[in-house]
Amino acid sequence: MKARPYLIALVLIVLVAGLLVVFRTPSNDPAKQQETSPQAAVEAGAGAGDAYYPTDGNSGYDVTLYDLAITYDPGSQQLDGVASVTATASEDLSRFNLDLEALKVSEVKVGDQPAKFVQEGDHELVITPAAPLAKGKPFTTTITYGGKPTTINDASLGRSGWQISSTGGAFAAGQPHSATTWFPANDTPRDKAALKVSARVPDGWTVISNGIEGPVARSGGWTTFTWSEETPLATYLATVAIDKFEVVRSKLPNGTPVVDAYAPGTSAEKKPIQSQLPQVLAYLETKFGPYPQRAAGGIWVADQIGFSLETQTRPIYAAWADLETLVHENAHMWFGDSVSIENWADICLNECLASYAQWLWLEKDGTDLDQRYREQVEQRRERSSFWAPKLYDMGKGNEFRGVYDKGILGMHALRKQVGDDVFFKALQSWTEKHREGNATWPEFEDHFKQASGQPLDAFFKAWFRDSGIPGDQYLLPVGVRR
Ligand SMILES: [Zn+2]
Repeated sequence: MKARPYLIALVLIVLVAGLLVVFRTPSNDPAKQQETSPQAAVEAGAGAGDAYYPTDGNSGYDVTLYDLAITYDPGSQQLDGVASVTATASEDLSRFNLDLEALKVSEVKVGDQPAKFVQEGDHELVITPAAPLAKGKPFTTTITYGGKPTTINDASLGRSGWQISSTGGAFAAGQPHSATTWFPANDTPRDKAALKVSARVPDGWTVISNGIEGPVARSGGWTTFTWSEETPLATYLATVAIDKFEVVRSKLPNGTPVVDAYAPGTSAEKKPIQSQLPQVLAYLETKFGPYPQRAAGGIWVADQIGFSLETQTRPIYAAWADLETLVHENAHMWFGDSVSIENWADICLNECLASYAQWLWLEKDGTDLDQRYREQVEQRRERSSFWAPKLYDMGKGNEFRGVYDKGILGMHALRKQVGDDVFFKALQSWTEKHREGNATWPEFEDHFKQASGQPLDAFFKAWFRDSGIPGDQYLLPVGVRR
């Protein structure tokens, strides 16, 4: 994510609405045990274990595929969907949850059997299958749902989730919440899954989503677009955008398909920016290793939304976005999308590195980053508010403070501390080791300690774990001194 310049802080209001305990132990009541025989199956609960967003995501299973069929009418803003969610039970399950905001569920089946369900709290869909699900076995849940999707209004970042564009179209984007405003999901970055979208809209509208474009079919005044993203994605990186887009298709030199979409009213300055995508990706590959996605592109909306977001393979760009934004969001294809955070406390893995990519892009064109670093440190030395945010485990609501500016300086300091050779080799081995997976900030620290052979604990503490300006030995590592 890259916030609109003056909207840096993200204040997240999470309603911890007295939901459920995370786990419930199997009942000791023999009659109950019989109900869930052969073994006492677990009623898996709400929450995947994130300390900041305890009710996000759910326990008890691992999703492998979201296969969505939606119909959206921009005129009425009505969305109707059938979501087939394929998952593997991680324990014997008598009950499990999915997350869905505001939309109303009319039917749930697990396999081909109707299942009982109830919608609780602000986003919990609690499903009781006709028979318990066995640990280790895949199962498909089919949810029929519909309604008018909601926008999540955030005091500092503006609107996220389902948003209506000024052209009358719509798009879904937001962090940490977005997906659940348009499909039932296990809404945690820990559970990455493939995504297939089939979206039906009135003729004249176009649908763009993640991954690779499939066939388009027209019938009775409606057009159905299909998209498929095989690379597992975190739910907040899923998107669908509906507008009267101008679509430009091309390929990267290695054949990777590129789809760029421009909403009506997009400034003419944006196409020359987007057309630099192949050069940007080629340059980032020299720093971070091979491009880890199967598709590329971008979605330019014509609205001044509060942020641009690294929706997988196809970032969403606000009307204010520029080339630096394009570099930032595409750096996220490595840091955030391919290597995803385990916890929201780890967000610097995404934002500090994507923001540092903006500096690397300047370096390509001859900017002396050491000089830039020294200048910025000196300009800000007395500004305690600049140094105050912690870059790791910053606390709920503070995730996006500091990571875009102090985070850049911290990454440059790390580079100077370990040397260019170690720094870039370690970044490449990091993206390779955790490709299509999840990682934590402490793992990143360990990775650099190992790669450099330096202890680095005091360095990481001063820059990333503590509040306040780092001591001079960390602020001005030998490599950056004049
Ligand atoms: Zn970002």
